[in-house]
Amino acid sequence: MYSDPVSLFISHGSPMLAVERNEFTDAWEQLAAELPRPKSILVLSAHWDTPSPIVSAAATMETIHDFGGFPDALYREHYPAPGAPGLAARVASLVQGCHTDAKRGLDHGAWVPLELMYPEADIPVTQLSIQSRMDAAHHYQLGQALAPLLKEGVLVIGSGGIVHNLRELDWHGAGNTHPWARNFNDWMADRVAAGDLESLLDYARRAPEPRMSHPTTEHLMPFFAALGAGGLPARHLALGFDLGSLGMDCFAFG
Ligand code: ZN
Repeated sequence: MYSDPVSLFISHGSPMLAVERNEFTDAWEQLAAELPRPKSILVLSAHWDTPSPIVSAAATMETIHDFGGFPDALYREHYPAPGAPGLAARVASLVQGCHTDAKRGLDHGAWVPLELMYPEADIPVTQLSIQSRMDAAHHYQLGQALAPLLKEGVLVIGSGGIVHNLRELDWHGAGNTHPWARNFNDWMADRVAAGDLESLLDYARRAPEPRMSHPTTEHLMPFFAALGAGGLPARHLALGFDLGSLGMDCFAFG
């Protein structure tokens, strides 16, 4: 159980988790059950990536099916949680240069884990965009700006992937994790456990094979936002890998 508020980094994996039940979805359900019930939720997803920060002020959140080539069942999934215009205004006041979007809904980085964590869809939720052209330090500072929200009952979630290389996906292999993926994953977990913020922020130079683990960085930047919001120490949920190159580990910061 968690007695104090935390921020989360969730590796959201494949969109198929919305219609599957496995060790990853079980872990998300369990995590939500152990957290204090949030008044509202703010998600920074890998799948909303803009040059500067934008928060959605929409009163109702459309479920965005931002993927292609998946079974029809996935496109029938909807997460009808209310929006959080009040939270959006608060976020805009905390984050320098933040703009608001009146319509933007929830992408799958947000609604897939939330469907498992809060299936009643009765907690207001909104999203704040990431800026993958910026570095880890930018996202850490973005998270720090959001830190006051934790004491206001807001659950801040960074949703991405601790390792994310779609070119190296293994759709048939069960349990065949690439060595470079495991090395990067283990380095990140080890530096978190050591409380080594300096190395984490410099992961692009210090971690093993950062470019194989993240050919593009949008799935890792939400990690740094969550880290900034909650701070160290962190609890580490070691969940391993899906499809060989999707790291599924989660962290609770604070
Ligand atoms: Zn993703």
